[in-house]
Amino acid sequence: MSCIFCKIIAGEAPAAILYRDEQVIAFRDIHPIASTHILIVPLRHISSVNELEEADAALVGHMALAAKQLAVQEGVAGRGYRLIMNTGPEGGQSVFHLHMHLIAGKSARSLLG
Ligand code: AMP
Ligand code: ZN
Repeated sequence: MSCIFCKIIAGEAPAAILYRDEQVIAFRDIHPIASTHILIVPLRHISSVNELEEADAALVGHMALAAKQLAVQEGVAGRGYRLIMNTGPEGGQSVFHLHMHLIAGKSARSLLG
């Protein structure tokens, strides 16, 4: 198994895990670009948005709802945050296991202009 996120899910690599349920796990990004930077990751290995199928619609919705809950927990829900799914090399994706970035804090504001 070479996927770093699958290793974290299996407990074979360390991570600052904030949340886990039967579908997703959430942990802090190892190289945060803002004061809050959390990754919401499905337990099942899906490479990217490109590999999503109709049957995964509920899973993606679940990821968004987990992100919303984490934003509340982090105390950033009111001020706001960004949810980002980088896709493919030119989309800035570097880990090819589907994930949603939850990014909040001052430096999050300048991300997309
Ligand atoms: P992306 O560039 O959208 O594929 O995002 C991958 C993210 O995973 C980057 O922001 C990395 O900093 C983060 N990352 C890579 N390895 C780890 C790890 N072992 N634990 C936590 N975050 C990681
Ligand atoms: Zn994986």
